[in-house]
Amino acid sequence: MKLTVTDVHKSFGATQVLRGASLTVQEGDLAAVLGPSGCGKTTLLRIVAGFENLDTGSVRIGDREVAGLPPEKRKVGIVPQEAALFPHLSVARNVGFGLPRGSSGRTERIEECLELVGLAGYGERMPHQISGGQQQRVALARALAPRPGVVLLDEPFNALDRSLRVSVRDEVRAALKRAGATAVLVTHDQEEALSMADTVAVMREGLIVQEGTPAAVYAAPRDLGVATFVGEAVVLAASGGGRDTVSCELGSLPRRGDGPAGPGRVALRPEQFVLRTPGEGSGGLVERVEFFGHDAAVTVALESGTVIRARTRGDVPHRPGDRVGVTVEGPVLFFAG
Ligand code: ATP
Repeated sequence: MKLTVTDVHKSFGATQVLRGASLTVQEGDLAAVLGPSGCGKTTLLRIVAGFENLDTGSVRIGDREVAGLPPEKRKVGIVPQEAALFPHLSVARNVGFGLPRGSSGRTERIEECLELVGLAGYGERMPHQISGGQQQRVALARALAPRPGVVLLDEPFNALDRSLRVSVRDEVRAALKRAGATAVLVTHDQEEALSMADTVAVMREGLIVQEGTPAAVYAAPRDLGVATFVGEAVVLAASGGGRDTVSCELGSLPRRGDGPAGPGRVALRPEQFVLRTPGEGSGGLVERVEFFGHDAAVTVALESGTVIRARTRGDVPHRPGDRVGVTVEGPVLFFAG
């Protein structure tokens, strides 16, 4: 079901944690709430779940206002940070925990949810007999079993090591999609948010400051804070010369969007830097080459002292110590002020 959070305020004593947070998640979408530690993500999630009461504002699941209702009346499924399975119950009994005992179709629903998360046939195992990633998927099956209107995932991959995290998050996304669930994922990991979610909501100091598809937020962040939090950027002093150009130490560059002339800063994305032969563009010295297979990141110290990190193709010919020229491709983000 659609989730609509509107203008939620919440204080703990004198500390104002949410200052008018609003968030909309369309039915069937996975939204990531992305923000630095302490910005209020978990508090927002707990308010949607009903574990905390809001001071003012509204939380609607479908057409129903749920603020004020106890958690069990909200039809919300929760996947906590660590799977938190009941260790003395089998996988099947964990998944069935939220389904009334003896209800018709209970066994079938448990099996169906295990299938959704790719664990058909695991019902008789005990939690300690499956891996951490599988435990997290059982936790998701348990959350999905009562057919919740919204599924909330609170940094669900934190306890997993990095190599496992990528595959588990693909599996979790696939299971949510198969179930047609509306879901909110809270994370401080931008790669996780950008790669998994249909929409991202960037949170800062108790407010959602921008919502949109990952590509839209990356391409058109509303301010420098969002630009540097969502994706990498090199920030340089600049001046908006006219409606559509901006000048900085890397030259006069086309500007994304238009706006007033005057001082400000540009944010340059790693894929906008092009490495050339010395003499073209700004000169610099290669400091580091990180090879990722399909692509590479090359760190270059420019003669001005500015350090940039360029994303290039994997077959990069450069080595640390090489002299290169650097130019910038495509329109750049400019923020006045
Ligand atoms: P993290 O990523 O570190 O989990 P977060 O963005 O989820 O952070 P919250 O856990 O929502 O942030 O906390 C936001 C602020 O609210 C913090 O300063 C925290 O100390 C404060 N806070 C949260 N819960 C309570 C509480 N029950 N009583 C008092 N202060 C609280």
